[in-house]
Amino acid sequence: MGCGFGGVEVASELSELRKRSKELDITMIDRRTRLEYQAAHPEILSGKVTAEKISGDLNEFAARINAEFVNEAVVNIDFEAKKVKTEDKGEGREIPYDFLVISIGAEQTFFGIPGAEERSYSVNTLKGAIETKNALDKLDYSKKINIAVIGAGLTGVEVAGELVDYFNFRDRASAKIYLVELMQRVLPAFPTEAVSNYAAKIISDSGVEILTDTAVQEVSEHKITFTDGTELPYDVIIWTAGIKPNSLIEKLDIPKEKGWLKVDQYLRVEGMKNVFAVGDTAYFESGGIRSGQNVEEAERQGKLAAENIIRTIEGKKLKRYRAKNTIQNPRAFISLGNDKAVMYFSGMMFKVLAYRVKKFVERRYMRRFK
Ligand SMILES: Cc1cc2nc3c(=O)[nH]c(=O)nc-3n(C[C@H](O)[C@H](O)[C@H](O)COP(=O)(O)OP(=O)(O)OC[C@H]3O[C@@H](n4cnc5c(N)ncnc54)[C@H](O)[C@@H]3O)c2cc1C
Repeated sequence: MGCGFGGVEVASELSELRKRSKELDITMIDRRTRLEYQAAHPEILSGKVTAEKISGDLNEFAARINAEFVNEAVVNIDFEAKKVKTEDKGEGREIPYDFLVISIGAEQTFFGIPGAEERSYSVNTLKGAIETKNALDKLDYSKKINIAVIGAGLTGVEVAGELVDYFNFRDRASAKIYLVELMQRVLPAFPTEAVSNYAAKIISDSGVEILTDTAVQEVSEHKITFTDGTELPYDVIIWTAGIKPNSLIEKLDIPKEKGWLKVDQYLRVEGMKNVFAVGDTAYFESGGIRSGQNVEEAERQGKLAAENIIRTIEGKKLKRYRAKNTIQNPRAFISLGNDKAVMYFSGMMFKVLAYRVKKFVERRYMRRFK
């Protein structure tokens, strides 16, 4: 259920492992038809990548691994009857299962700030990234233009960097980019200030104005009002602040932690033997260390959940999950525009060659879509 990085890895690994199981049918369900490589969405803005290049056809993928692909939205799950309820254009159906893996990712949150959702663009989905790029293309650059990026986490910083490149490529000096952050520094989720300071220096040297300690109170038609009473007129807002659990999770009466699905050491939803959760939607914690919400963890969890399903069928002892890219010790490549990037790994920061390594990793991922 949900064919992003977690779900696709589950299906892919199951198709490998099913040689060990007597009979196993794999059904992949997603409301979209394409797997989207969200990490590359900010680059849609600068035009460095195309939508085609950074997404893959789920129908073709399912055919390749001999799975069934159902292009419908899941609207509910009956855990008693072991059925997933889907809906497509008003029509619904029930899909039975023996084992279920929930990997429906996260959703963007606007924290209930008046006007924010209606008046902001977003790069969280491919469609959203394309709409954002179209909005930038349509602006009248003969006058002064303000672009506000709200939220200076990994996505916000990358979006600011890609905007720098967008305007550099087009020689549009009339545009001013603002990067707004509630916390005291950009990249606040990274444990060390060094990486925040480096990213802030590179993007502000490129002309981005960084506003930290700044909270959005309201978004009206032409201006953003901050909680300290100051205002910022804008032409385009790109919202990159915060994610929340998929709204379907709210409906489900199963164990949760802060709204995310709480999983045990084997990635089963707590107290359930045949329902697993992986990726952004899962809350995995062991010894005070929590899995991060990133591609690496989604894929590693997907692989282990598949293995544990087969082990359950075989009556074998399940394997414990060990998180690597964690909230406490995250690792990431962050592009900063102007062919610069910073890599954060094992508590250390790498600047030299970071952009080239990031592009290499990205190309490797994109090849998987073909
Ligand atoms: C803009 C952006 C940039 C990012 N950059 C990075 C990065 O640089 N590095 C990194 O490691 N991570 C990055 N991430 C995070 C990373 O993309 C996620 O952690 C990863 O995609 C999680 O995988 P997932 O399978 O849990 O969820 P997703 O990949 O989000 O997949 C969820 C799937 O579930 C489907 N779905 C949802 N609800 C339903 C429903 N009701 N019915 C049917 N299908 C449904 C969706 O259509 C989607 O295909 C970024 C995220 C964003 C938004």
